[in-house]
Amino acid sequence: MNLVYDALMTALGHPRRSPSGWHSFNAICCPHQGAHRPDTKKRGGLKLDGPTVIYHCHNCSFRTGWSVGSFLGGKVKDLLSWAGLTDEQINKLNFAAWSAVKQDEKGIRIIVPDGLKSIHDWLTDGSTDVRLLKIADSIATWDEVPDLREVYWTPDDAGQLLGSYIFLLKGDLSWPTGYVAMPFLDRSLPGRTHLGIDSENNEPVHTEEELEELRTYVFASEEERAALDASRPT
Ligand SMILES: [Zn+2]
Repeated sequence: MNLVYDALMTALGHPRRSPSGWHSFNAICCPHQGAHRPDTKKRGGLKLDGPTVIYHCHNCSFRTGWSVGSFLGGKVKDLLSWAGLTDEQINKLNFAAWSAVKQDEKGIRIIVPDGLKSIHDWLTDGSTDVRLLKIADSIATWDEVPDLREVYWTPDDAGQLLGSYIFLLKGDLSWPTGYVAMPFLDRSLPGRTHLGIDSENNEPVHTEEELEELRTYVFASEEERAALDASRPT
């Protein structure tokens, strides 16, 4: 089962499949890709290839995909949104994708937000925080109710309204290696369209070039380092 394929097929009204394996339909990406006109010639294609779903547009060349066992990338999230899925539905998919990959791979331990505890534990400890109770009520109405011992919450907002998020950890509280947080959107509030946060966003991203520069600098002799410093643009 491929979550993204299933969601897109449903949103697109189950377009017919050609013998080559591609489902064809009017592409949904083009108006979002700059000057391209909407497609009327069924130039959008979706194909399931083993664990991977591929979307390709012959009109504007937009292409993306997703494989079982990975997280949802930005382009896939865009595509799902263009297909008509709400932020909440996309978050649930992202959450489900994370659930599937959060195996107990030992990785680098990360710092999680303060006060994080499973919803099961909050309820058992008799929390009366209205935010938590609302979230627990809402989760109980889901089609597939997750194990509340594996869904986390913190009342500590830390400037990000974290109390309106639920968290899923990669690893567990004793050795967390990553997390994803899904916001519970209150539609009555303007501007609450945040697509969620995750620990990956907190990591600095370096290009290979920057890393190489750093390596050169770190392993340089003192004279070489002075020369590098002098050649640096100011
Ligand atoms: Zn397109």
